[in-house]
Amino acid sequence: MTARVVVIGGGISGLSAAWALVTARPDLDVTVIEGASHVGGKIRRGWLSRVELPVDVGAESVLARRPEALDLMADVGLDDEVVHPRTASASLVNRGALRPLPTGTLMGIPADPARLAPVLTDDELRRASHERVGEASAEDVSIGDLVAERLGDAVVDRVVEPLLGGVYAGHARRISAAAALPAAFAAHRDGVGLTEAARRALPGDRGPGQEQPPVFAGLSSGLYRLPARLVAELGRRGVRVRTGVTVRALERTASGFRLVCGSAADPQTLTAEGVVVAVPPAPAARLLADLAPVAGRVLGEVQTASMAIVTLAVPLSSGFGWPGSGVLVPPVEGLSIKAATFSSQKWDWVRERGTHAAPGPVALLRTSLGRQGEEAVLQRDDADLVDLVVSDLRAIGLALPDPADSLVQRWGGGLPQYAVGHRDRVAAVRAAVADVPGLAVAGATYDGVGIPACIASGRAAAEQVAASQWAA
Ligand SMILES: Cc1cc2nc3c(=O)[nH]c(=O)nc-3n(C[C@H](O)[C@H](O)[C@H](O)COP(=O)(O)OP(=O)(O)OC[C@H]3O[C@@H](n4cnc5c(N)ncnc54)[C@H](O)[C@@H]3O)c2cc1C
Repeated sequence: MTARVVVIGGGISGLSAAWALVTARPDLDVTVIEGASHVGGKIRRGWLSRVELPVDVGAESVLARRPEALDLMADVGLDDEVVHPRTASASLVNRGALRPLPTGTLMGIPADPARLAPVLTDDELRRASHERVGEASAEDVSIGDLVAERLGDAVVDRVVEPLLGGVYAGHARRISAAAALPAAFAAHRDGVGLTEAARRALPGDRGPGQEQPPVFAGLSSGLYRLPARLVAELGRRGVRVRTGVTVRALERTASGFRLVCGSAADPQTLTAEGVVVAVPPAPAARLLADLAPVAGRVLGEVQTASMAIVTLAVPLSSGFGWPGSGVLVPPVEGLSIKAATFSSQKWDWVRERGTHAAPGPVALLRTSLGRQGEEAVLQRDDADLVDLVVSDLRAIGLALPDPADSLVQRWGGGLPQYAVGHRDRVAAVRAAVADVPGLAVAGATYDGVGIPACIASGRAAAEQVAASQWAA
């Protein structure tokens, strides 16, 4: 009999798990079950209806310094469409003005504190230049507390916080150094200077005329093409991808698992010998509560941050100028937005499409709002959020014309938070799950929220399930 594997969750982690399963083991019968009406999860296409343009309303780029995302794009035949940002020159809002984002930092930790001179006062810079290396300690610590103790609060508030906020929508003083910035944690553990650690971790100067390879990549018609293409290729290999079907319960049977799907009024049951749970922490906690109680309990402790992406299309005829690829906003500035990406400046394909927009040329930018525990701003309705974003952008000195179109995408619980102790929690979940043969977990909750890390977790889960005894 052909062994069946069900992947729960059709985000990039689940789709990657299905891809790894079917490429390594074409003999398996693989099904992906996705609760939403579309696959992709946090990688999603939106549509600006007045200017008739598609946009990424979730993730829009991948880290190119890790191989997983680019490899997957190549595997599914998208390598010709890989593009890199035209510019990576971001700005930082600093005491109400725009300053170039300091370079030569590891998530804001400077290899040379002098690089922070444009955004720190003389006193703050003096403090940052005299690092207080503490006692070596193997105990996890928040990135914010670690950097504040070593280099002063201003380095956290002015530089680390906006950079971390952009990735995790969290707070530097709550995010685990061990889980989110291992190089900084290693310095803490070994009693080494943070600036020294940043120097070691940053890519070296390649010398005159030698350009650094691009840090980020995207797809020439939107990152949303990746899950869509993956589903097409999975289908060609016999994988069924069912959307609009929520898995409500996962139970152990004598030979594997029973999944209860659909509505309570009209439940459907599926059986499988292997299961990959590739959903965010709250639904994963519910699904694992009986099967692997420790994993269920620990996943239930993982908090998430809600956020919104507000995309604006502004008329090009207004001559609006763009300062680089985008802007990061530290919370100390007291604004609602935490970042803005000037998409038409960053990506050629966005610029090109905007230039040919139906009612007239437009430029696109996207802003993000919302940090963990700060959901109040997200209670506003869409029109209010758009007004707020426009007023924040004008407050930081951008002469932004009234938008020709806008789109608000809300991401409730969009990003898992790697709080202090996260690595231990992940180890506990993995150990509990490993006790259930044929079961594995994957997703942004475990080894990194970025897309390459999610792909890697999907692959590892596939290997774990395929190595089960029944699959031998
Ligand atoms: C706004 C935003 C912007 C981001 N930008 C970037 C970026 O530019 N680059 C980057 O690398 N990362 C970015 N990230 C992070 C990254 O996109 C995510 O961490 C990653 O896509 C998560 O993938 P996943 O498959 O683990 O989870 P998800 O994408 O959350 O997928 C999980 C899927 O499971 C489904 N599901 C849940 N419960 C059930 C159930 N019971 N039954 C069936 N299905 C279920 C959900 O509907 C969902 O589709 C961003 C995240 C957000 C929120």
